[in-house]
Amino acid sequence: MTPATPSTLDQTLTVAPERKGGGEQVALALFIGIPFLALLAAIPVAWGWGLGWHDIVIAVVMYAIAGHGITVGYHRHFTHGSFKASRALKIALAIAGSMAIQGPVVRWVADHRRHHAFSDRDGDPHSPWRYGETIPALAKGLWWAHTGWLFDVEQTPRSKYAPDLMADEDLRRIDRAFPLIVAGSMLLPAVVGGLWSMSWQGALTAFFWASLVRVSLLHHVTWSINSICHTIGERPFKSRDRSGNVWWLAVLSMGESWHNLHHADPTCARHGVEKGQVDSTARVIWAFERLGWATDVRWPVAKRIDARRISA
Ligand SMILES: [Zn+2]
Ligand SMILES: [Zn+2]
Repeated sequence: MTPATPSTLDQTLTVAPERKGGGEQVALALFIGIPFLALLAAIPVAWGWGLGWHDIVIAVVMYAIAGHGITVGYHRHFTHGSFKASRALKIALAIAGSMAIQGPVVRWVADHRRHHAFSDRDGDPHSPWRYGETIPALAKGLWWAHTGWLFDVEQTPRSKYAPDLMADEDLRRIDRAFPLIVAGSMLLPAVVGGLWSMSWQGALTAFFWASLVRVSLLHHVTWSINSICHTIGERPFKSRDRSGNVWWLAVLSMGESWHNLHHADPTCARHGVEKGQVDSTARVIWAFERLGWATDVRWPVAKRIDARRISA
């Protein structure tokens, strides 16, 4: 179905990355940058009547809770087993991740484990290289990797990729409660915003910024790991795919954009392993470990990391 067969991709993997043309880089930057700048431009326009400090605080808190629910919970714990969680923490992480509205935990984990099993080859649910390596094929592939794949009628078999999670009664219950958690995630900001300002206007603006804008921004940041971080970025580590480290997504993605290291060492609890690489997800795991809620954390081991460096 796809021209990017494993054998053709093998010849151009991270060991010998190809350089991209300048025009391609500019087009990519424009498509990523302009809609985001438009959102930023809306902030001063709305300030004072359609947006205030309350909305910002609620949006940031909701983004951090749902975002780390995905990165700490869905990704590093449930998908990769980077640490063991107490039962209460496991339940809290599954609920927090569900609040991001990226699907129930078992479905998300099954897709992501399949991504690692086939990264950038046939079978990867969201490789930007799916349609080939020419610029039109890559443009189509980027769209597919970012959002298109979500509409694929073919689904990853959960029983094959996440039987451990399907056997967990707590997670089955949280999966069943997914629509309820979604409703809560959308309505909670309005309730807090309304009570905080004691006004309907406060409820409405909090709903707009801390529900709609927050969910949308987090969706795009998560999807950017699949699209942008498999197309551009530094590749200092050996991996079987085209994953890259993209520094400018580190804060918004909570450390997930150090994606080349992640594919080189998937169970590692810290993705930003180098000095100065922001990884708030690793910080949160560290705090959970201090509290005694997370154990057996797989912190980076210098020898293991060094063995995966391309220059090594
Ligand atoms: Zn990946
Ligand atoms: Zn992963």
